[in-house]
Amino acid sequence: MYHPTRREFLVRSALLAAGVSTLPLLRPTTSTAQGAIRAEDLVDAGESFGRGTGRGVTQGAAPGGTALRAARGGAFTSRVLQSSIGFTHVGLHWSAAVPSQAELVFELRTSQDGSSWSPWSAARLQRLPEETQVGDYFASLVYAGGARFVQYRATFQTAGGASPSLRRVTATVIDSPATTISLSSAATDQLPAQSVSDADSGRDLTVTSREQWGANEKQRFSRRNKELWAEMFVPAKKLIVHHTATRNDYADAAEAAAEVRAIYYYHAVTQRWGDIGYAALVDRFGNLYEGRHGRGEGTGREYLSAGVVAGHDTGYNYGSAGVALLGDATQGNWPMTADNGPMWDALVRFGVFEAGRHYLRPLNADGTAASSSFLRSDNVWTASMRNVSGHKETNSTACPGETVMALLDELQSAVHSGLADTSRTGVTLTNVRPGGRETRVGTTIAYEWVAEQPEGGWTLVGYEYCAEGWYKPANNINITYLSGYTSEAQPRQAWTRVGAQTTSRSFTPTKAGQYTFHVRAVLRNDTTGTERRGAYAGRHTYLVK
Ligand SMILES: [Zn+2]
Repeated sequence: MYHPTRREFLVRSALLAAGVSTLPLLRPTTSTAQGAIRAEDLVDAGESFGRGTGRGVTQGAAPGGTALRAARGGAFTSRVLQSSIGFTHVGLHWSAAVPSQAELVFELRTSQDGSSWSPWSAARLQRLPEETQVGDYFASLVYAGGARFVQYRATFQTAGGASPSLRRVTATVIDSPATTISLSSAATDQLPAQSVSDADSGRDLTVTSREQWGANEKQRFSRRNKELWAEMFVPAKKLIVHHTATRNDYADAAEAAAEVRAIYYYHAVTQRWGDIGYAALVDRFGNLYEGRHGRGEGTGREYLSAGVVAGHDTGYNYGSAGVALLGDATQGNWPMTADNGPMWDALVRFGVFEAGRHYLRPLNADGTAASSSFLRSDNVWTASMRNVSGHKETNSTACPGETVMALLDELQSAVHSGLADTSRTGVTLTNVRPGGRETRVGTTIAYEWVAEQPEGGWTLVGYEYCAEGWYKPANNINITYLSGYTSEAQPRQAWTRVGAQTTSRSFTPTKAGQYTFHVRAVLRNDTTGTERRGAYAGRHTYLVK
């Protein structure tokens, strides 16, 4: 799901070890409702494999130790792994070599006493080895409700005589208790929340902040107090919907927040990302959670920062916002099967806020889904990507499940409707030169644009444009800002205002990178006299080599 490769992380780790950092040292802060997470890694490998039982599976020498293999398909059931703590969740991850077409499928079961067991449940693959610094395959979290024992079984599917080679299995058990949260109302399904304002778009949103859901900010920092994943800012051009592939039957708001804290720990600590991978999450009660940490630290920090890069969709993380629905949409007890209900409403609220503040168009004028080509962070183009997409449209995954995929048309319409409080006057770029979408350093790039006719009650009074430019080396997750940003260490988009007569601009990139030109209309309300930006910016991206 995440973009950077393992090699990028090793390079970054080396830079950190050398004391090279783009940001000053930031002190971790203690959150007010800190989740008391405990966790333990239960490792099965080498000799301890011998205490499991295999059918068609043998153990043999492999680079760096031994591995399990199957000549013609087989299954392996592990010994019982015992934890020293009671735990609420288990995340299975494994080190393996899996030939193409072959497959390793995991299931697990849990027990409180080691004799009475839960049914086997699928441990579904969520991250590939190159998607985390750890280098393991990671399955999504399985709920275990106070268990102390876990057992797994692996099914080996061979391809043309080539077997998967399983070197190590780790069951990371996490205890994320549903601690008492001081609820904002008598309703036990509503979390405290606070209002967030986006000055640029004039939009507000009520969100449960990281402090309010109990994020332990220390999980973002190393033992030596270094922030593990510095915040970077790339304006979102796409909204991408996920599910978390965790349980659906959390009973109340306290349990829902405990689910979010478990996911945060699993991403930040177990997978060594240093934070949760989503920009925001939504639970079945309609609570909307702030995800990835944004600008500033501690008291006075910014909530739900616009454009902060998170890790939710490999290749697409730079320039998209990922929102995750809490639970598993592939299961029969999935709560959101139609375009209504509290989870749906919260998803739409976030979609309107996010599309609104990034001037994203969900629908074309003719009502079809708006789309554009997207330049991935590895400089590969995706043609005709919908502005509101599901994760599986971008990468090979079941996320967010067919039930949610079937609702994305309705989501586009609902976000479109929600943007009706401002003029829809969009701007369209015309006569972009040079043609195509890739060019060379030193080439002048020129844009002309035209605004749609403002609706009644609004007058076009000007434009604002921004030539967003940044560079990401292939071997590093950090970007260098090149143009279109303010000069702060944690910069924002810098917009230039021009009059309504100005309808062209040109600039000449002097450095290689990704450059996106944004231009939006500024309109005055004829009744109130207040100025507001039009709902949709014109936008065009060049890869400059
Ligand atoms: Zn996903």
